[in-house]
Amino acid sequence: MSEHPVRSSTITCPECGHQETETMPLEACQWFYECPGCGALLRPRPGDCCVFCSFGTVPCPPVQQQGGPCC
Ligand SMILES: [Zn+2]
Repeated sequence: MSEHPVRSSTITCPECGHQETETMPLEACQWFYECPGCGALLRPRPGDCCVFCSFGTVPCPPVQQQGGPCC
């Protein structure tokens, strides 16, 4: 575990496959993400706390640090 979590995560849209690298907020969970490729509004899968955990290459910073769901 690192004291400095990775803050960038590449989200892959499940609708169109578009990939976009985004910077994650350190304290808050991001529930909604609008795909810049097709405009789909992404929401976390059941059991995931944010869109980065569901669709990103890297889970959100609180999960990286705690090793579990943050909220
Ligand atoms: Zn899309």
